[in-house]
Amino acid sequence: MRPWIESTWQHIQHDLEGPRVPHAWCLTGAWGLGLATVSDRLVARLLCPDVREQSACGRCQSCRFLMQGAHPDRLKLTAEGAAGRIRIDAVRDAIALVYSTSTLGQGRVIEVTPADALNTEASNALLKVVEEPPVGTRFVFSTHLPGALLPTLRSRMRRIDLSLASWDAVCAEGVRIGLSEAQVSRGQWLLQEPFVGHDDPSRLAEAEVVLKTLQSVATGADPQWGANQIKGLSPILVLTVMVRIVESCLHGQADSAGCARRFGPEAFQAPFPEASGLFQLLDRIHAQRMPTARGIAHMALPGFGSLLAVWSHLWSKVQRP
Ligand SMILES: [Zn+2]
Repeated sequence: MRPWIESTWQHIQHDLEGPRVPHAWCLTGAWGLGLATVSDRLVARLLCPDVREQSACGRCQSCRFLMQGAHPDRLKLTAEGAAGRIRIDAVRDAIALVYSTSTLGQGRVIEVTPADALNTEASNALLKVVEEPPVGTRFVFSTHLPGALLPTLRSRMRRIDLSLASWDAVCAEGVRIGLSEAQVSRGQWLLQEPFVGHDDPSRLAEAEVVLKTLQSVATGADPQWGANQIKGLSPILVLTVMVRIVESCLHGQADSAGCARRFGPEAFQAPFPEASGLFQLLDRIHAQRMPTARGIAHMALPGFGSLLAVWSHLWSKVQRP
């Protein structure tokens, strides 16, 4: 178990043993830290009638049903369809179900993941039942984007943030699972997924292609050439790496020494493009990233091409010493 997951679990455990046990939880954290692991563990813990050493027993009928992915009292609402949203009729079905008797007698758990895939209508429908849940009904929301949740809904939940314990702990864990420190730091820098080199090495390789392309375009390569270099890659990955790089240049603006230490010294160096231009580019990338993250497949070549054209323009105005 990764050390920061263990420390997060201690917080959850503390709440579970406290005088007022939350009935609705909102788990948040960056990609790659193990949000799904914590969510699964919490759901199992809530449904297990025979908790041992602070966790689900792993042996009872409830635990076996969960392992088989077919627990009658666990309901999972997840993103569907071209729009990548949680459907309102799926939410209504879930609400109808929580008013029926649970099958195994340990109440029900409704999981909502990713919770940012709820639209306003679905959020409002859930809000009523989260505010006044039937006895024995618990909710486990999880999201990488807590800011995208309806504030009234968010305020009803116990929020648990899965955050990195320390960089040293992350590196030690990376080395333990067979990565080099360079891979861990590359994964963290480019994708905020320190273990991407272990979880999915091809994602790290793709992220490196995006980095190299942005470096080339920053030093004068044609943006259209750059768009061709990255056109076959996962759009969300490309946009994520772009966000990270533009953000790191903004960091570099504020403190180039800090940037060099934290964000890869060889990647980009001062002087950086002007901050207002970088912020505008960041807005444009986010504007394309949000629908892409929801699975709306509209990112074609012109999208990357126009972003790279802006990137190229910003760097062309930098006065080099
Ligand atoms: Zn059990």
